[in-house]
Amino acid sequence: MNDQAASFIAKSTVKAADLEHRRKINFNIGKYNAVVPQGKLQFHNVAQVREMAKMRKWEAIEHLDQYLLEFEKKITARGAKVIWASDTEEALAAIGEICARNNCKTVVKSKSMVTEEIHLNDFLEKQGIESVETDLGEYIQQLDGEPPYHIVTPAMHKSKEDVAKLFANKLGTKPGLTPEQLTLVAREKLREKYVQAEVGVTGANFLIADVGGIAVTENEGNARLSCAWPKTHIVIAGIEKMIPSINDLPTFWPLLSTFGTGQQVTVYNSLITGPRQAHETDGPEDMYVILLDNGRTNLLADPIAREALYCIRCGACLNACPVYKNIGGHTYETTYSGPIGKVITPHLRGMEQFNHLSYASSLCGNCTEVCPVRINLHELLLHNRHENVIGGSSKLAERIAWKAWKLASLNRFMMNMGNGKLKNRVVNKIFKGWSMHRSELDFSQRTFNEYWKEREQQKKN
Ligand code: SF4
Repeated sequence: MNDQAASFIAKSTVKAADLEHRRKINFNIGKYNAVVPQGKLQFHNVAQVREMAKMRKWEAIEHLDQYLLEFEKKITARGAKVIWASDTEEALAAIGEICARNNCKTVVKSKSMVTEEIHLNDFLEKQGIESVETDLGEYIQQLDGEPPYHIVTPAMHKSKEDVAKLFANKLGTKPGLTPEQLTLVAREKLREKYVQAEVGVTGANFLIADVGGIAVTENEGNARLSCAWPKTHIVIAGIEKMIPSINDLPTFWPLLSTFGTGQQVTVYNSLITGPRQAHETDGPEDMYVILLDNGRTNLLADPIAREALYCIRCGACLNACPVYKNIGGHTYETTYSGPIGKVITPHLRGMEQFNHLSYASSLCGNCTEVCPVRINLHELLLHNRHENVIGGSSKLAERIAWKAWKLASLNRFMMNMGNGKLKNRVVNKIFKGWSMHRSELDFSQRTFNEYWKEREQQKKN
């Protein structure tokens, strides 16, 4: 077992027993579960909309090369500069260069998982640049020195009391402030930063090929301020964020908001197609769009796993996952957690180091059930496991155990050998791995054949 896997198992074991953590998560996910069904009522036929969304993402991903070039051509024509980054280093080098050219001291940043993926804040800090998270949840996490806990709700594991305590410790506010008061404190602090910042960084929820634009979805207006106020706007987006047309937004915007937060539509939906034009009064003078690969073409090259690139990062699969609800978001030690994180991280960051995540699932299929773009998440976890086995990384003992199980399961005589007591002993005591983190199995004392005979006998009587 590698260090990453050992750390995951150790942290999961501790977290799963942390009842206070579980209480907070269940409380917050419970609120989410209460509103999502309401949001879904806006669709005449939600199943059909999901199917359509899946087909449009299929179209975008199957022809990604063409759509990326179309996007570049259109947005470049309006003065934006497109930078292609094959990995983290290239993306950071490009951002570093833009910041240096603009003599940047402060960056305001809206919520973006891609910037987490490339550890942008750490990089900027090393360059002596202050990077300020402007999304309230991200701001809380930054104050606490923690990465986001959830891809949509970064501080989901914190109660309002935890946040009040954090603000008192870090910002010197009075203890016990209400959520409204805390929001006003954050707002006041952040307004100052928008004015100071030379560069604003945002992600993109969608890259739109036919108009050459980016779509940003948010509830607080902070992304708008981050991209409109500073003189330079940098967008960083994974290449999979592509959708073919602006006409797809009426499908994706409500789907993302309903499955992400239960809203019919998110409060602010911005469409940005370039820097400020000659006849316009607002907006940045320069706009850069960094198109990041960072392992996404590994997924693209795999005709089965490719489907994971349809993800619109709504977070629904995390909220539905019984594993996530017990071990929480930080235990994964990856940017993307929950079912989608388990599917994509081994491809993005290496099968050898991260494939243990593909096994951290009961395969209940609830993630697939809730995904708005109908990604077959649990099947993709099995696909990862399969890749792992054919890649030769399964253990000899595991292979022998499964061969023995197959042999016995296909042979009635062997299945009937031994009583329940013996089977309990073999599974619970000899194969200790099973009962280490689970309750012991309790086999029936009688075999299937014995039950069957008894049943037939009863029928005759
Ligand atoms: S895999 Fe589906 S449910 Fe999970 S975050 Fe992506 S779009 Fe949402």
